[in-house]
Amino acid sequence: MSNPNVSRREFLRRNSLTGLGAVLSPSLLSASSIEQPTIPAPNPEIPTSSSRTEAPALLGGKPVRSKEWPTWPMWQPETDEKQLLEVIRSGIWSRANVVTEFEAKWAATLGVKRSLAVVNGTNAIMAALAQFDIRGGDEVLVTPYTFIGTVAPILMVGAMPVFVDVDPETFQIDPAQIEARITPRTRAIIPVHILGLPANMTLIMPIAKKHNLVVIEDACQAHMAEINHRKVGTLGDAGCFSFQNSKNLAIGEGGAIVSNDDAFMDRCFSYQNYGNPYGQVSGVIGAGTLRQGTKLRLTEYQAAIGLAQLTRLDAQTTVRNENAAYLKSKIKDIPGIVPYKLYDDVTRAAFHLFPFRFKKEQFKGLSRDVFVKALSAEGIPCSKGYATLNTMPYLNDTFQTKNYRKMYPKSMLDFNSYLERNHCPQNDRLCREEAVWFTQNMLLGSRSDMDEIANAIEKIYENADKLLTQK
Ligand SMILES: *Cc1c(COP(=O)(O)O)cnc(C)c1O
Repeated sequence: MSNPNVSRREFLRRNSLTGLGAVLSPSLLSASSIEQPTIPAPNPEIPTSSSRTEAPALLGGKPVRSKEWPTWPMWQPETDEKQLLEVIRSGIWSRANVVTEFEAKWAATLGVKRSLAVVNGTNAIMAALAQFDIRGGDEVLVTPYTFIGTVAPILMVGAMPVFVDVDPETFQIDPAQIEARITPRTRAIIPVHILGLPANMTLIMPIAKKHNLVVIEDACQAHMAEINHRKVGTLGDAGCFSFQNSKNLAIGEGGAIVSNDDAFMDRCFSYQNYGNPYGQVSGVIGAGTLRQGTKLRLTEYQAAIGLAQLTRLDAQTTVRNENAAYLKSKIKDIPGIVPYKLYDDVTRAAFHLFPFRFKKEQFKGLSRDVFVKALSAEGIPCSKGYATLNTMPYLNDTFQTKNYRKMYPKSMLDFNSYLERNHCPQNDRLCREEAVWFTQNMLLGSRSDMDEIANAIEKIYENADKLLTQK
């Protein structure tokens, strides 16, 4: 938490001291030199507090930073291309041994019995919901602070999303508000480990158990994140991952469902292959397709790319955690900057994003829009993050479909009363006023990169009054 009692003088004094402490730890140096051969060595000239008194870059001053950030995704031809070329030259491109190898390695990495690779995270969630028989008339609890890829699958299976407000300190679903939104129709909850920070599974699981809810974790941003040394995605009935281009394990497109439940995983496998027999989904030999299904199969060359990325994931996760903790320590005392909080039992986060809350009252009333523009102009790209997912037109569009009008009483589909029932004021404030993010690739840089982020924020803090003229 930022401390409003820190005086400006004390704030400047502390920062001029910590600004000198920008020494690269040997572990970071070696990790980043292994992982990112293309990143230039850190600039020894770390801006000091004097550069913060220069004009903001948005007003024509010199930016704090002019270097590029680590690019994403990463690709190392020497190590990454051998298996990929073998796959391409083999002519076996559709799902076969390499996908199976990727699934086995992903399950082993997470410490879970089974993993099934599919085309993307959105369809992983859709398949998991369908194979737990979450269907028309069922309600699914979910946070509004997430990507559309969490909620679209709920609507794809004909179920009704019910939004639970967030805990703004952690950006996660607020466990204390879950029970108030449970009805006799509630069948499932999707805890989303949003931004790669673990949701409070320690409180969520007992609530789910008490109300007999299926728990499908959306870990699409949370590869390798842990609660009490257990990987998220393996704590509920099933976990879903995304390997889309921006994600911490990037294939371009791709996803996975993981679970310790063999019967469920066999149903998922069958489902992603047209409903054809697999494992416990078996029938009379020659009876053909047994279940309702679709086709969600990953290709062999996607799996080969995934295997290459997997070799770096653990080391990259360590670098992100170290840099995030360091950056948090550098910015937490800047008045008006409130970095994320992790729950006490989180032993590792994924940091798909690095979030903080921006309090404009402590920036002389500067709007978040101008703050984000000014910080970006300093060479520190950042964004405002999500818009309110519980108020967007896709919901009403779905409610007006033929299927929804047949499955639900008219009163449940009235959009104005839906908006009222699903009002989430904490989330509104995060989305509309306070949240600011940095992307995960920035956390793969060096400590001096983190110093530059902190220095740029301080520079904007010092110059907030001059920026008030901007829109
Ligand atoms: C990316 C993402 C998804 C969807 O994954 P895709 O592979 O893009 O379909 C779902 N939920 C969250 C939280 C995500 O970040």
